[in-house]
Amino acid sequence: MKNSGIQTPTTPKIIPRAAHNVSRDEISKSALKVLYRLHKAGYQAFLVGGCVRDAMLELHPKDFDVATNATPEEVRALFGNCRLIGRRFRLAHVRFGREVIEVATFRAAANHKDDDHAHDDEGRIVRDNVYGSIEEDVQRRDFTCNALYYNIADFSIWDYVGGVRDVERKRLVLIGDPDMRMREDPVRMLRAVRFAAKLGFTIDAAAEKAMAKDVPLLANVPSARLFDEFLKLFQSGFAEKTFELLREYGLFAQMFPVTDRALDEDPSFLRFVEAALQNTDRRFQADKSVTPMFLLGVFLWKPTCELAVIRRSEEKMSESQSLSLASYELGAEQQRRIAIPRRFTVPMREMLALQPRFSQTRGKRAIKLLEHRRFRAAYDFMLLLADVGQFDKEKADFWTRVQNESAEQRAASFQISAQPKSQRRRRGRRRAKPAPSP
Ligand code: ATP
Ligand code: MG
Repeated sequence: MKNSGIQTPTTPKIIPRAAHNVSRDEISKSALKVLYRLHKAGYQAFLVGGCVRDAMLELHPKDFDVATNATPEEVRALFGNCRLIGRRFRLAHVRFGREVIEVATFRAAANHKDDDHAHDDEGRIVRDNVYGSIEEDVQRRDFTCNALYYNIADFSIWDYVGGVRDVERKRLVLIGDPDMRMREDPVRMLRAVRFAAKLGFTIDAAAEKAMAKDVPLLANVPSARLFDEFLKLFQSGFAEKTFELLREYGLFAQMFPVTDRALDEDPSFLRFVEAALQNTDRRFQADKSVTPMFLLGVFLWKPTCELAVIRRSEEKMSESQSLSLASYELGAEQQRRIAIPRRFTVPMREMLALQPRFSQTRGKRAIKLLEHRRFRAAYDFMLLLADVGQFDKEKADFWTRVQNESAEQRAASFQISAQPKSQRRRRGRRRAKPAPSP
């Protein structure tokens, strides 16, 4: 295996405090405590990665990563509130109430010419567990804007790879040979899109070129890692833009092949998906909860409806049953790509299977829907369908209205006539009677 084509200068460009805009006011008190204590104990201590980038862009970073030349054991010796995590590569987590500061020892990239076992046949990194110097730590990072080090010793920024310039130019530039870096870790293609959507950066032409070629390598990424990345892509407030870019680069087709085909075939499905993504972003901005099961249900909706029709033609079953069966089959297929935990696939199926019940607005079975544990999600889903003209608007309004009605008003709305007690009892008794034996 060749090395990654990185020629990192051994001396960084040092931007003094007076010449950059990363203010300590933008750094959490806990992160500062960790940095100061490491520094006082004689170690190098830097903030690194997204927090430095976001602070430069005045985006108020919330996660702070620290890089140091202290080993994890040395870090633990300095902090009572510290836990070492990770078996393959040990990291120190220093806890302050709910906030966790991650402290990583400088690490070398697994790109040594003499270490063939660190990569698989397609060049993907499968091992990177050697401590290193700060110069080596720079090399294993993905984009230049993510490789800026904020030095607590004098509040300067150390820039080995032109990251400051690229932040200013709003460009995502891979460190080293783009093709090799994408092959090493194909998730970097998803990260490129995520940062482009979140930061409004342009993906550098060389990185784009590598992506055009390396998109199929996403298939080699473990499904559990893709689930983690799926959450970051779609639950960080930029889902709509991210989706657009994922489609543009052919990455969405790798992650959700069945959905991607359905989107190509049916513009009305695309409108529905886009409305759901906008809705997700709005919820994020308003600090409302977002659950991955909702979007997964949205992504699988059209294929589920189509497969349900087929299943219903093969065997006698209700529309709800066929939707449940179809979403089970498609969910299982999707899980081979992205390891969606069962705690999300089960409610997703329920949410989809409930959809036909919004068409019924009369009688006891209809009113019972309001009590269903998945009513809220299913109702939100139905509203979205109605918003894009794919469900009856009057019925949608009906379900909105009845939620605020009293019991009597509801009975009237659902046209449930109060039956005389005697009649009800008689029916009950009749059913309770054991069936005559043959
Ligand atoms: P954000 O927290 O906004 O998602 P981030 O840049 O902090 O962005 P993290 O996933 O928190 O992203 O990673 C922290 C840093 O670790 C990155 O800035 C980058 O330097 C490095 N890094 C993370 N993932 C990779 C990767 N797949 N390849 C190379 N470097 C990576
Ligand atoms: Mg981060």
